[in-house]
Amino acid sequence: MAVTAGRPAHEPDAPLNAPLTMASTYVGGGELEYGRYANPTWTAFEEVLGALEDGRALTFSSGMAAVATVLDLVAPGEAVVAPAHAYLGTLHLLATKEQRGQVEVRTVDITDTEAVLKAAKAGDGAALVWLESPTNPMLEIADIAAICAGAHEAGAQVAVDNTFATPLGQRPLDLGADLVVHSATKFLSGHSDLMLGAVVTRDDATFTALDEQRRSRGALPGVLESWLAARGVRTLHLRLERAQTNAATLAERLAGHEAVARVHYPGRGGMISIELVAGPAAADRLTRSTRLWVHATSLGGVQSSFERRRRWSGEPHTVPEALVRMSVGIEDVDDLWADLLEVLDGLAAPQV
Ligand code: PLP
Repeated sequence: MAVTAGRPAHEPDAPLNAPLTMASTYVGGGELEYGRYANPTWTAFEEVLGALEDGRALTFSSGMAAVATVLDLVAPGEAVVAPAHAYLGTLHLLATKEQRGQVEVRTVDITDTEAVLKAAKAGDGAALVWLESPTNPMLEIADIAAICAGAHEAGAQVAVDNTFATPLGQRPLDLGADLVVHSATKFLSGHSDLMLGAVVTRDDATFTALDEQRRSRGALPGVLESWLAARGVRTLHLRLERAQTNAATLAERLAGHEAVARVHYPGRGGMISIELVAGPAAADRLTRSTRLWVHATSLGGVQSSFERRRRWSGEPHTVPEALVRMSVGIEDVDDLWADLLEVLDGLAAPQV
Protein backbone atom coordinates (compact mmCIF):
# COMPACT_ATOMS: atom_id res chain seq x y z
CA MET A 1 0.00 0.00 0.00
CA ALA A 2 2.82 2.40 0.80
CA VAL A 3 4.19 1.83 -2.69
CA THR A 4 1.04 1.58 -4.76
CA ALA A 5 -1.78 3.66 -3.21
CA GLY A 6 -2.47 7.24 -4.31
CA ARG A 7 -1.11 6.80 -7.85
CA PRO A 8 -2.71 7.94 -11.12
CA ALA A 9 -4.53 5.21 -13.09
CA HIS A 10 -2.32 2.97 -15.28
CA GLU A 11 -3.12 4.66 -18.57
CA PRO A 12 -0.81 5.45 -21.49
CA ASP A 13 1.20 8.59 -20.82
CA ALA A 14 -0.12 9.01 -17.27
CA PRO A 15 2.69 9.93 -14.87
CA LEU A 16 3.52 7.26 -12.27
CA ASN A 17 3.37 9.84 -9.51
CA ALA A 18 0.61 12.36 -8.82
CA PRO A 19 1.96 15.63 -10.20
CA LEU A 20 2.53 18.75 -8.16
CA THR A 21 -0.63 20.78 -8.75
CA MET A 22 0.14 24.38 -7.90
CA ALA A 23 -3.28 26.02 -7.98
CA SER A 24 -5.26 28.47 -5.85
CA THR A 25 -8.27 28.19 -8.12
CA TYR A 26 -9.74 25.71 -10.60
CA VAL A 27 -12.13 26.15 -13.52
CA GLY A 28 -15.57 26.30 -11.89
CA GLY A 29 -18.33 23.71 -11.97
CA GLY A 30 -16.22 20.72 -10.90
CA GLU A 31 -15.35 19.10 -7.57
CA LEU A 32 -12.34 21.16 -6.62
CA GLU A 33 -13.28 24.84 -7.19
CA TYR A 34 -10.83 26.53 -4.80
CA GLY A 35 -7.38 25.83 -3.39
CA ARG A 36 -8.54 25.98 0.21
CA TYR A 37 -11.03 23.19 -0.41
CA ALA A 38 -9.08 20.56 -2.31
CA ASN A 39 -5.91 19.75 -4.18
CA PRO A 40 -5.06 16.56 -6.12
CA THR A 41 -1.55 16.49 -4.64
CA TRP A 42 -2.98 16.52 -1.09
CA THR A 43 -5.33 13.73 -2.13
CA ALA A 44 -2.49 11.51 -3.34
CA PHE A 45 -0.81 11.47 0.08
CA GLU A 46 -4.16 11.23 1.85
CA GLU A 47 -5.00 8.14 -0.17
CA VAL A 48 -1.76 6.44 0.86
CA LEU A 49 -2.21 7.27 4.52
CA GLY A 50 -5.90 6.35 4.40
CA ALA A 51 -4.97 2.97 2.92
CA LEU A 52 -2.27 2.37 5.55
CA GLU A 53 -4.54 3.28 8.50
CA ASP A 54 -7.64 1.80 6.82
CA GLY A 55 -9.69 4.98 7.09
CA ARG A 56 -10.19 8.35 5.39
CA ALA A 57 -7.29 10.76 5.85
CA LEU A 58 -7.24 14.54 5.77
CA THR A 59 -3.98 16.44 5.90
CA PHE A 60 -3.16 19.73 7.61
CA SER A 61 -0.34 22.24 7.63
CA SER A 62 1.42 20.51 10.56
CA GLY A 63 0.90 17.84 13.17
CA MET A 64 -0.19 20.56 15.61
CA ALA A 65 -2.82 21.82 13.15
CA ALA A 66 -4.17 18.26 13.05
CA VAL A 67 -4.10 18.00 16.87
CA ALA A 68 -5.82 21.39 17.25
CA THR A 69 -8.50 20.47 14.73
CA VAL A 70 -9.39 17.29 16.61
CA LEU A 71 -9.42 19.06 19.98
CA ASP A 72 -11.71 21.71 18.50
CA LEU A 73 -14.31 18.99 17.88
CA VAL A 74 -14.76 18.82 21.67
CA ALA A 75 -17.77 20.93 22.67
CA PRO A 76 -17.18 23.81 25.13
CA GLY A 77 -17.05 22.70 28.75
CA GLU A 78 -16.58 19.01 27.95
CA ALA A 79 -13.81 16.92 29.51
CA VAL A 80 -10.75 15.47 27.77
CA VAL A 81 -8.73 12.65 29.31
CA ALA A 82 -5.09 13.34 28.45
CA PRO A 83 -1.73 11.63 29.03
CA ALA A 84 0.64 12.96 31.70
CA HIS A 85 3.40 12.51 29.12
CA ALA A 86 2.80 13.38 25.49
CA TYR A 87 4.17 15.72 22.86
CA LEU A 88 4.61 19.00 24.72
CA GLY A 89 2.78 21.02 22.06
CA THR A 90 -0.33 18.91 22.59
CA LEU A 91 -0.07 19.24 26.38
CA HIS A 92 0.44 22.99 26.06
CA LEU A 93 -2.59 23.37 23.80
CA LEU A 94 -4.74 21.35 26.21
CA ALA A 95 -3.54 23.46 29.16
CA THR A 96 -4.30 26.67 27.23
CA LYS A 97 -7.79 25.47 26.37
CA GLU A 98 -8.36 24.57 30.00
CA GLN A 99 -7.14 27.98 31.23
CA ARG A 100 -9.59 29.62 28.84
CA GLY A 101 -12.42 27.51 30.24
CA GLN A 102 -12.92 25.70 26.94
CA VAL A 103 -12.31 22.16 28.17
CA GLU A 104 -11.67 20.28 31.39
CA VAL A 105 -8.45 18.27 31.21
CA ARG A 106 -8.15 15.05 33.23
CA THR A 107 -4.51 13.98 33.26
CA VAL A 108 -3.74 10.27 33.57
CA ASP A 109 -0.94 7.73 33.28
CA ILE A 110 -1.96 6.06 30.01
CA THR A 111 -0.27 2.79 31.00
CA ASP A 112 -2.86 2.48 33.80
CA THR A 113 -5.97 1.43 31.85
CA GLU A 114 -8.13 1.43 34.97
CA ALA A 115 -7.16 5.03 35.77
CA VAL A 116 -7.80 6.12 32.17
CA LEU A 117 -11.28 4.59 32.21
CA LYS A 118 -12.06 5.97 35.67
CA ALA A 119 -11.25 9.45 34.35
CA ALA A 120 -13.32 8.83 31.23
CA LYS A 121 -16.34 7.80 33.33
CA ALA A 122 -16.06 10.41 36.11
CA GLY A 123 -18.82 13.02 36.48
CA ASP A 124 -20.86 13.33 33.33
CA GLY A 125 -18.20 11.40 31.45
CA ALA A 126 -15.46 12.73 29.18
CA ALA A 127 -16.07 13.61 25.53
CA LEU A 128 -12.63 12.50 24.37
CA VAL A 129 -9.79 10.27 25.50
CA TRP A 130 -6.53 11.46 23.93
CA LEU A 131 -3.81 8.85 23.68
CA GLU A 132 -0.30 8.86 22.44
CA SER A 133 1.26 5.41 22.27
CA PRO A 134 4.20 5.16 22.54
CA THR A 135 4.30 8.50 24.37
CA ASN A 136 6.76 11.22 23.58
CA PRO A 137 9.36 11.07 25.15
CA MET A 138 8.82 8.35 27.80
CA LEU A 139 7.77 5.69 25.28
CA GLU A 140 4.96 4.41 27.49
CA ILE A 141 2.41 2.10 25.91
CA ALA A 142 -1.37 2.29 26.25
CA ASP A 143 -3.68 -0.71 25.93
CA ILE A 144 -5.57 0.97 23.08
CA ALA A 145 -8.12 -1.81 22.54
CA ALA A 146 -9.13 -2.01 26.21
CA ILE A 147 -9.26 1.78 26.56
CA CYS A 148 -11.38 2.15 23.41
CA ALA A 149 -13.86 -0.49 24.59
CA GLY A 150 -14.21 1.10 28.05
CA ALA A 151 -14.26 4.69 26.74
CA HIS A 152 -17.02 3.88 24.26
CA GLU A 153 -19.09 2.34 27.05
CA ALA A 154 -18.72 5.66 28.87
CA GLY A 155 -19.73 7.60 25.75
CA ALA A 156 -16.26 9.03 25.03
CA GLN A 157 -14.47 9.03 21.70
CA VAL A 158 -10.81 8.02 21.50
CA ALA A 159 -8.14 9.78 19.46
CA VAL A 160 -4.68 8.22 19.14
CA ASP A 161 -1.60 10.16 18.12
CA ASN A 162 0.12 7.43 16.10
CA THR A 163 3.18 9.47 15.13
CA PHE A 164 5.71 7.25 16.92
CA ALA A 165 4.26 3.85 16.01
CA THR A 166 3.21 4.67 12.41
CA PRO A 167 0.43 2.57 10.81
CA LEU A 168 3.02 -0.17 10.25
CA GLY A 169 3.52 -0.50 14.00
CA GLN A 170 -0.16 -0.34 14.98
CA ARG A 171 -3.48 0.61 13.43
CA PRO A 172 -5.54 2.31 16.14
CA LEU A 173 -8.77 2.27 14.08
CA ASP A 174 -8.55 -1.54 14.02
CA LEU A 175 -8.20 -1.42 17.81
CA GLY A 176 -11.40 0.62 18.14
CA ALA A 177 -10.14 4.22 18.03
CA ASP A 178 -12.34 6.89 16.43
CA LEU A 179 -9.55 9.15 15.24
CA VAL A 180 -5.89 8.77 14.42
CA VAL A 181 -3.60 11.79 14.41
CA HIS A 182 -0.17 12.06 12.82
CA SER A 183 2.67 14.46 12.67
CA ALA A 184 3.54 13.42 9.10
CA THR A 185 6.58 15.64 9.61
CA LYS A 186 8.20 12.56 11.22
CA PHE A 187 8.35 8.91 10.10
CA LEU A 188 5.65 9.08 7.42
CA SER A 189 7.55 11.59 5.30
CA GLY A 190 10.85 10.52 6.83
CA HIS A 191 13.43 12.97 5.52
CA SER A 192 13.28 15.95 7.94
CA ASP A 193 12.37 18.29 5.10
CA LEU A 194 8.74 19.24 5.63
CA MET A 195 5.92 20.00 8.09
CA LEU A 196 2.63 18.15 7.67
CA GLY A 197 -0.14 16.73 9.83
CA ALA A 198 -3.01 14.31 9.30
CA VAL A 199 -6.18 12.98 10.88
CA VAL A 200 -7.70 9.64 9.87
CA THR A 201 -11.19 8.37 10.69
CA ARG A 202 -13.69 5.79 9.41
CA ASP A 203 -16.69 7.88 10.40
CA ASP A 204 -18.09 9.96 7.53
CA ALA A 205 -19.70 12.56 9.79
CA THR A 206 -16.42 13.09 11.65
CA PHE A 207 -14.57 13.31 8.34
CA THR A 208 -16.98 16.02 7.15
CA ALA A 209 -16.61 17.95 10.42
CA LEU A 210 -12.82 17.84 10.07
CA ASP A 211 -13.00 18.92 6.43
CA GLU A 212 -15.24 21.86 7.39
CA GLN A 213 -12.72 22.89 10.04
CA ARG A 214 -9.91 22.71 7.49
CA ARG A 215 -11.84 24.84 5.02
CA SER A 216 -12.88 27.43 7.56
CA ARG A 217 -9.62 27.65 9.55
CA GLY A 218 -7.40 27.32 6.52
CA ALA A 219 -4.64 25.25 8.19
CA LEU A 220 -3.95 23.70 4.79
CA PRO A 221 -1.21 21.28 3.82
CA GLY A 222 1.40 22.78 1.55
CA VAL A 223 1.30 21.35 -1.97
CA LEU A 224 5.05 20.77 -2.18
CA GLU A 225 5.01 19.29 1.33
CA SER A 226 2.24 16.87 0.32
CA TRP A 227 4.15 15.87 -2.78
CA LEU A 228 7.33 15.27 -0.79
CA ALA A 229 5.38 13.31 1.84
CA ALA A 230 3.85 11.11 -0.85
CA ARG A 231 7.35 10.43 -2.15
CA GLY A 232 8.74 9.83 1.33
CA VAL A 233 6.02 7.41 2.41
CA ARG A 234 6.85 5.08 -0.51
CA THR A 235 9.80 3.78 1.52
CA LEU A 236 8.18 3.89 4.96
CA HIS A 237 8.36 0.11 5.41
CA LEU A 238 12.02 -0.07 4.38
CA ARG A 239 13.07 2.90 6.50
CA LEU A 240 11.14 1.67 9.50
CA GLU A 241 12.43 -1.88 9.18
CA ARG A 242 16.01 -0.63 9.22
CA ALA A 243 15.43 1.98 11.94
CA GLN A 244 13.74 -0.65 14.08
CA THR A 245 16.52 -3.21 13.68
CA ASN A 246 19.07 -0.53 14.49
CA ALA A 247 17.06 0.66 17.50
CA ALA A 248 16.66 -2.85 18.93
CA THR A 249 20.42 -3.45 18.66
CA LEU A 250 21.28 -0.08 20.16
CA ALA A 251 18.75 -0.45 23.00
CA GLU A 252 20.40 -3.70 24.01
CA ARG A 253 23.91 -2.28 23.82
CA LEU A 254 22.91 0.88 25.68
CA ALA A 255 21.31 -1.19 28.47
CA GLY A 256 24.67 -2.88 29.00
CA HIS A 257 26.67 0.35 29.24
CA GLU A 258 27.62 1.63 32.70
CA ALA A 259 26.96 5.29 31.78
CA VAL A 260 23.31 4.48 31.08
CA ALA A 261 20.99 4.22 34.08
CA ARG A 262 17.84 3.25 32.18
CA VAL A 263 16.73 2.46 28.65
CA HIS A 264 13.13 3.07 27.57
CA TYR A 265 12.43 0.98 24.49
CA PRO A 266 9.03 -0.55 23.81
CA GLY A 267 10.51 -3.45 21.85
CA ARG A 268 9.83 -2.06 18.41
CA GLY A 269 9.88 1.18 16.49
CA GLY A 270 12.70 3.61 15.88
CA MET A 271 12.61 5.61 19.12
CA ILE A 272 14.68 5.02 22.28
CA SER A 273 14.96 7.16 25.38
CA ILE A 274 17.88 6.75 27.77
CA GLU A 275 18.64 8.20 31.18
CA LEU A 276 22.28 8.89 31.94
CA VAL A 277 23.84 7.95 35.28
CA ALA A 278 25.88 11.13 35.37
CA GLY A 279 22.96 13.52 35.05
CA PRO A 280 21.80 16.31 32.73
CA ALA A 281 25.24 17.83 32.12
CA ALA A 282 26.42 14.45 30.82
CA ALA A 283 23.31 14.23 28.66
CA ASP A 284 24.11 17.63 27.18
CA ARG A 285 27.68 16.55 26.63
CA LEU A 286 26.58 13.42 24.82
CA THR A 287 24.17 15.24 22.52
CA ARG A 288 26.76 17.85 21.60
CA SER A 289 29.82 15.64 21.13
CA THR A 290 28.92 13.01 18.55
CA ARG A 291 29.78 13.11 14.87
CA LEU A 292 27.06 10.99 13.24
CA TRP A 293 24.22 11.58 15.67
CA VAL A 294 22.86 15.08 15.18
CA HIS A 295 21.82 17.22 18.10
CA ALA A 296 18.34 18.14 16.91
CA THR A 297 14.72 18.10 17.96
CA SER A 298 12.06 16.28 15.96
CA LEU A 299 12.39 12.66 14.90
CA GLY A 300 11.60 10.02 12.35
CA GLY A 301 14.11 11.03 9.69
CA VAL A 302 16.62 8.82 7.94
CA GLN A 303 19.43 10.43 9.90
CA SER A 304 19.85 9.61 13.59
CA SER A 305 19.24 12.54 15.91
CA PHE A 306 18.82 13.07 19.64
CA GLU A 307 18.28 15.67 22.32
CA ARG A 308 17.86 16.09 26.04
CA ARG A 309 14.14 16.70 26.26
CA ARG A 310 14.15 18.79 29.44
CA ARG A 311 16.11 21.46 27.57
CA TRP A 312 12.58 22.54 26.56
CA SER A 313 10.90 24.40 29.41
CA GLY A 314 7.47 23.07 28.41
CA GLU A 315 8.45 19.43 28.94
CA PRO A 316 6.63 17.94 31.98
CA HIS A 317 8.85 17.88 35.06
CA THR A 318 8.16 14.19 35.55
CA VAL A 319 10.38 13.58 32.51
CA PRO A 320 13.86 12.97 33.99
CA GLU A 321 16.36 15.82 33.52
CA ALA A 322 18.99 13.42 32.17
CA LEU A 323 16.68 11.76 29.64
CA VAL A 324 17.93 11.78 26.06
CA ARG A 325 15.36 10.96 23.38
CA MET A 326 16.97 9.22 20.42
CA SER A 327 15.48 8.99 16.95
CA VAL A 328 17.29 6.10 15.32
CA GLY A 329 17.93 6.44 11.60
CA ILE A 330 18.93 4.04 8.87
CA GLU A 331 22.71 4.38 9.01
CA ASP A 332 25.04 1.44 9.71
CA VAL A 333 24.32 0.34 13.28
CA ASP A 334 27.97 -0.23 14.18
CA ASP A 335 28.85 3.27 13.01
CA LEU A 336 26.04 4.64 15.19
CA TRP A 337 27.19 2.61 18.17
CA ALA A 338 30.86 3.55 17.75
CA ASP A 339 29.89 7.21 17.63
CA LEU A 340 27.90 6.91 20.89
CA LEU A 341 30.50 4.76 22.60
CA GLU A 342 33.27 7.29 22.06
CA VAL A 343 31.36 9.76 24.26
CA LEU A 344 29.58 7.33 26.61
CA ASP A 345 32.84 5.73 27.75
CA GLY A 346 33.88 9.07 29.24
CA LEU A 347 30.56 9.66 31.00
CA ALA A 348 30.28 6.78 33.44
CA ALA A 349 31.02 8.77 36.61
CA PRO A 350 28.58 11.41 37.92
CA GLN A 351 29.59 14.88 36.65
CA VAL A 352 30.22 17.49 39.32
N1 PLP B 1 2.58 14.57 17.89
C1 PLP B 1 3.77 14.08 18.25
C2 PLP B 1 3.85 12.75 18.94
C3 PLP B 1 4.93 14.82 18.01
O1 PLP B 1 6.12 14.32 18.38
C4 PLP B 1 4.82 16.09 17.37
C5 PLP B 1 6.02 16.90 17.10
O2 PLP B 1 7.09 16.65 17.59
C6 PLP B 1 3.55 16.55 17.02
C7 PLP B 1 2.45 15.77 17.28
C8 PLP B 1 3.38 17.89 16.37
O3 PLP B 1 3.66 17.78 15.01
P1 PLP B 1 4.27 18.98 14.12
O4 PLP B 1 5.60 19.32 14.71
O5 PLP B 1 4.30 18.39 12.76
O6 PLP B 1 3.32 20.13 14.24
